[in-house]
Amino acid sequence: MPMLVDARTLASGTLVDADLCIVGGGPAGLTLAHALSGAGIRIVLVETGGEKKDSDAEALLGGATRNSRFAPMTMYRRRVLGGASTIWGGRCVPMDPIDFAVRDHVPCSGWPVSFDDIAQFYPEATEICEAGRPDYDAHNAIPDAPPYIAGFGSDIVRTDSFERFSLPTNLWRRFSSELLPSGNVTILTHATVVDLTLGPDGANVDQAGCATLEGLRFRVGARKFVLACGGVEVFRLLAVSRAQRPAGLGNEHGVLGRYFMSHIEGSIASLQLNSPETPITWGFDTTDDGIYGRRRIYVDHDQQMRSGLLNTILRLHHANPASPGHRNAVLSMMFLAKSLILPEYRRKITMAERNAQAQEATGATFWLAHLRNVALGAPGLALFLTTWIAKRNLARRKMPYVVLASSTGTYPLDFNAEQEPNPDSRLLVANETDRFGVPFADVDWRMTENDARSVAETHRIIDAELRRSGVARLEYRDPDIEAEVARSATPIGGHHLGAARMGTDPKTSVVDANLRLHSVANLYVASGAVFPTSGHANPTLTILALALRLATHLKATAHR
Ligand SMILES: Cc1cc2nc3c(=O)[nH]c(=O)nc-3n(C[C@H](O)[C@H](O)[C@H](O)COP(=O)(O)OP(=O)(O)OC[C@H]3O[C@@H](n4cnc5c(N)ncnc54)[C@H](O)[C@@H]3O)c2cc1C
Repeated sequence: MPMLVDARTLASGTLVDADLCIVGGGPAGLTLAHALSGAGIRIVLVETGGEKKDSDAEALLGGATRNSRFAPMTMYRRRVLGGASTIWGGRCVPMDPIDFAVRDHVPCSGWPVSFDDIAQFYPEATEICEAGRPDYDAHNAIPDAPPYIAGFGSDIVRTDSFERFSLPTNLWRRFSSELLPSGNVTILTHATVVDLTLGPDGANVDQAGCATLEGLRFRVGARKFVLACGGVEVFRLLAVSRAQRPAGLGNEHGVLGRYFMSHIEGSIASLQLNSPETPITWGFDTTDDGIYGRRRIYVDHDQQMRSGLLNTILRLHHANPASPGHRNAVLSMMFLAKSLILPEYRRKITMAERNAQAQEATGATFWLAHLRNVALGAPGLALFLTTWIAKRNLARRKMPYVVLASSTGTYPLDFNAEQEPNPDSRLLVANETDRFGVPFADVDWRMTENDARSVAETHRIIDAELRRSGVARLEYRDPDIEAEVARSATPIGGHHLGAARMGTDPKTSVVDANLRLHSVANLYVASGAVFPTSGHANPTLTILALALRLATHLKATAHR
């Protein structure tokens, strides 16, 4: 069989045979297939999309979001080779050792693998993402960097962790030229897996039922299966595969779909320098290997344990583009030209716009104030646009997003926070179905009081340390900090974690430490769905590390 096969050319009723069937050609599935290429295992990777975005394939994504803060289910997912890496922001962040620990103040915390088990794969994951050296400590990554905030020092608040940015790399473009000639990987495009059926022993999946939009049906038979179809679709496929187990596969104890998490983001405070002249690194640091990156502010992990906090980081940001009071032409232009920027940030502005609209009159005066900012700042705006087009649109390594200096020493702080695992935050099987008759997944995402308390307390500790050092302070939008977090924080739309969590106990988890379902002997999951806790880190680097670790396991057990 040729290596890239359009499933629409198969005869209906075909049985495709393989050693390993991977469902999904996004970052997880492609990384796994690439790591196993040349390993003597016959692999068939089934991908619902093709090489280009197709609105009919996207229509297979649906489902209601029962909490209006959660983005529509079609917004942050893609059915195309490369998956969401065709639109991702490229921020690469490893998880921290504390994320893997059992923490008494975080219910259901603790991974069944250690930080080192996963961290050994971060260098290769970083290389896959084309994010430079796998060094996430600011002292090493940018040894001669100026201080983050001149004069600031603290034993419990740190500014030394460093996030790196990918190109951003599209994983299909990254891997296709190596995967296609590999000889043991066949990629079936335009083929949607619609169910998994167990074999006669009732303990192993023996076939994946597949469909094309044209109505053709065929099956893939394999000795092992890996679901790598994204954090929501993994749940959906397990939950709708009910032919032999009425609750779905992996759902004997009702855990599947529960503990669904994202990361919470928002902005409730600004960092105000006591003197606007104080040197501060407000923009990107560039490493000597030419990678964009940023430092962040966080409460030291020992202090997080003492204060009962969830893992959270803060980043300096620019003023809210929606509020014309910033008098900044670039920000007003950004606000007015939302459609020109990334969907993720476009949505952020839409949320900000909602907040701004709640706070100020948004009639003609509001819009005129933005137009006035643009008119008065036209020369600076022209210079910004020229630089932006060169660094964002024309460069291969793209400047990740807009960051701007503040003339008043005021920097709104963005937070990215861990959510505590919560069984009531969940994915559910919807009543509505797609054109194949497969029910969609509905999202009932929830945030807890403890999530909000932790974000508020993190800010308080950082504020106290900034004030103690005498260089800066935080100024809150609303003095009732917890209430403000609860009111305004939103889940990051593209991070779908926890719905098929990893653990040692089948009563509280779906997959084991090798990512294999407790209750199906040859079925594995490579996805953010297996994260037992989320940390604050953007998930892709860890998803790739998990896929690489799974490849090692599958190689070692190939002949069992
Ligand atoms: C706008 C945006 C910005 C982001 N920015 C960042 C960032 O800066 N840093 C970061 O770490 N993460 C970021 N993410 C998240 C990141 O994109 C995901 O973590 C990553 O794509 C997950 O990879 P995956 O392979 O598990 O799933 P996906 O990328 O969702 O890929 C799943 C693949 O499976 C296919 N598929 C689904 N169902 C089926 C089926 N039934 N049959 C066959 N194929 C199927 C899909 O078509 C898709 O190709 C961002 C996401 C978005 C949307």
